[in-house]
Parts: sequence; structure tokens; C-alpha cells
Amino acid sequence: MTVAVYPGSFDPVTLGHMDIIERTARMMDHVIIGILQNNSKTPLFSVGERVKMLEEITSHIKNVEVRSFDGLLVDFVHKCRANVIVRGLRAITDFEYELQMAQTNRVMAPDIDTIFLTTNLRYSYLSSTTVKEIAYFHGKLEAFLHPNVAEKVRQKVEELHQTSDM
Ligand code: ADP
Repeated sequence: MTVAVYPGSFDPVTLGHMDIIERTARMMDHVIIGILQNNSKTPLFSVGERVKMLEEITSHIKNVEVRSFDGLLVDFVHKCRANVIVRGLRAITDFEYELQMAQTNRVMAPDIDTIFLTTNLRYSYLSSTTVKEIAYFHGKLEAFLHPNVAEKVRQKVEELHQTSDM
């Protein structure tokens, strides 16, 4: 049985991430989306909120599960009894960092392979960071996010605007 872990921050999950999740689910027996907790950046959404959002929008894919983790990715992959890490590659700029991570993980855990899926060209420009900037300035989000996620991002940004007005 091939079990894959797709790790990331998913803050918030975009249509680019969804495309990778759907394609991975078609190739693997089981897919675990791993949401990283000990992120140095200050996230827009808590890990709990991100887990809930991802569960909601992947509920139609039967072999996908959502979990959060902290610590080393390879330890989480072992805990999941998985053997593959999936990462998305948008552009050459992603490549150097991703290659370094994959090689480091391979030294730490030779039983785990990293595979890369090239982005659907429709989403190759898309990042969670850009989406947050657009949201902050009240731009339209539907071209980038699932409608439920877009709504939650709008609400969250509204809350932030209100607290910064105080
Ligand atoms: P991280 O902080 O680990 O980079 P992200 O949530 O930004 O987490 O991304 C998780 C994974 O999804 C990474 O492999 C990243 O390259 C990939 N990814 C991000 N945006 C897209 C996109 N638009 N299309 C395809 N893959 C993407």
C-alpha cells in the first residue's frame, strides 16, 4: 500500500494545493495532508482552523486524511506509516530549496522518497502569501481559493482590520 504525506503550511489552502491533493489521491492508496505547526512565520489561521478548512474541502476525496504535526517531517512520515513525501513545484525558484530538503530528508530517512508534481499551469503563479496580500486589500479571491476558504479569509482579514482600528 502506498501512503503519501503532502506537507505544508496551507495558510490558507489554495486551488494550487487542491490540484496537487486531487492528483496525488488518484496516484496513491492513501494521502495524509500534514499541516506544519511550528512555523516561524505568524500564520493567518491557527493550525486547528487550517485542519478544519482542509477537511471541509477535501471531504469528497475518500482516501485523503488531514493531520497536523510539529518536529521533523521524516518523523511524522514514519508515524503515519507512509513511504512517500509529495511536494509541488511551481517554478525553478522552488527547485533549489525543495531539492535541498528532499536530499536532507533522504539522508535522515532512506526508506522515504520525495516526489514532485509540477503545478497545473493555471496555478503556477499562485501562493498563499499573494492571496493574503490580495485579501488584505479587499481584492476578489474566488479565482484562487475554494469559495468556503475565500469566505473564511475575508472574515479573518475583517477581524484583523477591526482589531488594528482599535
Ligand atoms: P510550505 O510553507 O511548506 O512551502 P505551502 O503551503 O506554501 O507550504 O506549500 C505546500 C506545498 O504545496 C509545497 O510543496 C509547495 O511547493 C506547493 N504549492 C504551493 N502553492 C502551489 C501551487 N499554486 N500549485 C502547486 N503547488 C503549490
